[in-house]
Amino acid sequence: MRNYQEEGRLAALRQLKLLDTPASESFDRITRMASQIFNLPVAAVSLTDRDRQWFKSRVGIDHDSIPRDKAPCSEVAETNEPVVIEDFAASPSYADSLLAHAGTRFYAGAPLITTDGYGLGALCVLGTEPRQITPSEMAALIDLAAMVMAQIELQHAFGRIDPVSGLATQMQFRDDLVDLARDRPGERRFAVAVDLARDDELSRFRQAMGGARVDDMICEASLALQTALTPARTAYHVGAAQFAFLSPPDVEQDAYLGLLRSTFDTIRAVSSVRFVTSVAIGVRPFILGEVAADDVLRGASSAAQDARREDGAIAVYSSSNDMAHRRRYRLLQDFGAALEADDQLRLVYQPRLALATGRCISVEALLRWRHPTLGDISPAEFIPIIERTTLARQTTQWVLNTALDELAGWQRAGSPLNLSINISASNFSETDLVERIQSGLLQRRLRADRLEIELTESAIMDQPDRAMAMLRELADAGVSLAIDDFGTGQSSLAYLQRLPAHVVKIDQAFVRGLSAGDSSDATLVETMVDLAHKLGFRVVAEGIETHNAAAALARMGCEEGQGYLFSRPLDADRLPRWLVERDADCTGQTAAA
Ligand code: C2E
Ligand code: MG
Ligand code: MG
Repeated sequence: MRNYQEEGRLAALRQLKLLDTPASESFDRITRMASQIFNLPVAAVSLTDRDRQWFKSRVGIDHDSIPRDKAPCSEVAETNEPVVIEDFAASPSYADSLLAHAGTRFYAGAPLITTDGYGLGALCVLGTEPRQITPSEMAALIDLAAMVMAQIELQHAFGRIDPVSGLATQMQFRDDLVDLARDRPGERRFAVAVDLARDDELSRFRQAMGGARVDDMICEASLALQTALTPARTAYHVGAAQFAFLSPPDVEQDAYLGLLRSTFDTIRAVSSVRFVTSVAIGVRPFILGEVAADDVLRGASSAAQDARREDGAIAVYSSSNDMAHRRRYRLLQDFGAALEADDQLRLVYQPRLALATGRCISVEALLRWRHPTLGDISPAEFIPIIERTTLARQTTQWVLNTALDELAGWQRAGSPLNLSINISASNFSETDLVERIQSGLLQRRLRADRLEIELTESAIMDQPDRAMAMLRELADAGVSLAIDDFGTGQSSLAYLQRLPAHVVKIDQAFVRGLSAGDSSDATLVETMVDLAHKLGFRVVAEGIETHNAAAALARMGCEEGQGYLFSRPLDADRLPRWLVERDADCTGQTAAA
């Protein structure tokens, strides 16, 4: 029993993460005061570890710890009672102790007790003369020990309570899970993650409504959640707009999911909070002690992402989806490093040709990432992962700098080639984007109309008002604009017509049908080309892989084309040679005609 208690005591001490931490003025202040009150040279906050007394704070002592054996502070920690030794020489227990040998004659220690009742050690004073202690001195020592504990618990609470909602944090969730796994191993539970909004949505809310209003909404949501859970279950605030909690033990899955569903229906029905209408809930079944605490929460979050993507309110953890999430997470983590490294990212350039003459007019810069261990990762995979994060800005800046350097080189070499770069929807929110593009051009003495910015139709439709404003600014700056992946977004014609874009790029999916020779596909593409012309756009076809498709598009009046038929995207150093060969081909063809 004694041992069991000692293990609990040591666990409590470890959990506070105080051992071997640096000295801190907030403790030293109290120790100094103790030494002054007693008019004694030595005082310490002494924590009782397995076999040492470690001093979190000390005056008049050189060592930062002494052996626990025959240290009076250890007795204080074990009994949770004050200990006074008026004269070491007269004490049967301590006459032969290390302290006595070092010349100590007097000791008084008051216990440091946690709210759970564990004794961590003592606040103590020591003297080199025998001495007595008055009741008021003892009362002062006990008060000071309580101040030390208040300080310890304050520091411990830091990072454990969310300042917005007042709920326990992810750190606390993890620690509580570790405790539960120790106390009730083998019990079956569900971890539930409640995701109020995606991070990018949240930052958009913050921009639109102001941080304080969003914090209020998160608070309201947390209150609604905690009320629904009743005081018996703790809700944790584990991410900016994510909460988590644990199910009771050994409930049956279907019944529990049903309960969750009705709980959230009730919250929705009674809540005025806008967020609560779009919550995504992830449920991770697990057995206490068998899954690491971090994995429990990550699994529940991963399921919440599934719920959001699949537009269902609740999703149960799936390990295959989780693998995909883990890969996404890893790519996201590693992409930051890729931007810093100088050998992982590069641009390749895909030629765009005038279909009537076969001449290359411009190239599209496309980003390539060679991951140090995973190898080549397609932009179709990594761009969607990073473009909703703060990395989008840096990425676009990297592409812009690299591509404009290249364009400046072509200009110096006398090449009239133009350049397109792709940007993401989230780049719209950067108020200085147009300025950065303009200064990039200016620094390299490039004319604005040599650069074209491609934006997908769906990115534009994601935030139509912002897109319109930014495209206007760009157009005013003289930069050309292209609507990429045309035909794949649900944009209204009236809206498209108002966009100050010059070019639409018909998505490859439609062009692929042409290669297959399907006549209904041909009719569709022809209609798109006509429509785009009527709206005043030049038309570029993407993904041309066959002569048939190229010929059909030329007949339809499509001005330009891009695709493997002409060239795959090329490394910058291979481009000049390709251009020379292409020019020679065109001249040859014209001469032959
Ligand atoms: P996108 O802008 O529509 O680019 C065209 C994609 O089609 C490129 O894929 C290109 O390699 C590919 N392609 C070109 N011709 C053919 C063809 O004949 N057949 C087939 N099957 N594919 C062809 P890539 O380079 O993998 O890029 C995929 C997408 O990733 C791009 O689509 C673009 O949306 C995005 N992306 C690429 N680079 C960047 C970048 O620097 N910034 C941003 N924001 N997005 C980028
Ligand atoms: Mg593009
Ligand atoms: Mg495209």
